[in-house]
Amino acid sequence: MKLLLLLCLAVTFVYGQQDPGAIWIPSPHYNSRNGYSVKWLIVHGTAGGSSAVAIGEWFQNPASQASTHYVVGQDGTVVQCVNEGWAAWGNGVVEGGSDSWWGVNPNWVSISIEHVKSNTDNSNELTGPQAAASFNLIRNIIARNPGIRMAYANGDGGITGHFSMSPQSRARCPGPFPWEQMFNDLNGSGQPTCMGSATTALNIRAEPNTNSAIVGGVPMHNVVNVRAKVLGEDILGNPYWMQLHDGSGFIAAYYFNVHITQPGWCY
Ligand SMILES: [Zn+2]
Repeated sequence: MKLLLLLCLAVTFVYGQQDPGAIWIPSPHYNSRNGYSVKWLIVHGTAGGSSAVAIGEWFQNPASQASTHYVVGQDGTVVQCVNEGWAAWGNGVVEGGSDSWWGVNPNWVSISIEHVKSNTDNSNELTGPQAAASFNLIRNIIARNPGIRMAYANGDGGITGHFSMSPQSRARCPGPFPWEQMFNDLNGSGQPTCMGSATTALNIRAEPNTNSAIVGGVPMHNVVNVRAKVLGEDILGNPYWMQLHDGSGFIAAYYFNVHITQPGWCY
């Protein structure tokens, strides 16, 4: 009996719920992190479904063969399905055109959050309660996992969407997401974010014109993150250039394909 009690305590500690206020609906769909530490936080949209509890129950169903660590409902309900110490089954394979840093199985190095979106194309905006619950959850997750940068993702870690590793099959996951509002809420930086992909192999220029130095390159279809849109040399009728989020330089907006549902200034 005593042994059983100790075992139960151990099981709760290792496998159990972590976020205060979350409803614990444990999913059997998880693996070891294979020795990797968590560096990225991935946000998703459910592309259908009605409630966080219903999605949590679906992740218990062997037919789903899927899970995320958390699900946030449109009413602000938070469900936890997998302990943060384990790899959930939220992210699929790394596809062509993914952000360049994805190498090992993304599940091993990430924590995933589903956001309930009733529309099958993920076109719903987050509701107010859903956004507030999500930001609060993300803040708590990063406090528990300081290896995750509180910033838009790059090769050193951070926060991004499912499209980052699966830009072909999951370009619309999570769909609309209040990136700027989130970073404002999390750290007050108001980091502008705008994501899109290069329609062809591009030079990165030091200034927004083709007379300036080439300081790098973007392979065709690669996803790039942009902090500002500025006027520069007219390229085939488009005078705008996108300043890369990492500060390395500029690419011509003519060759920048804005992902759906980005901040208005992106387009
Ligand atoms: Zn997803």
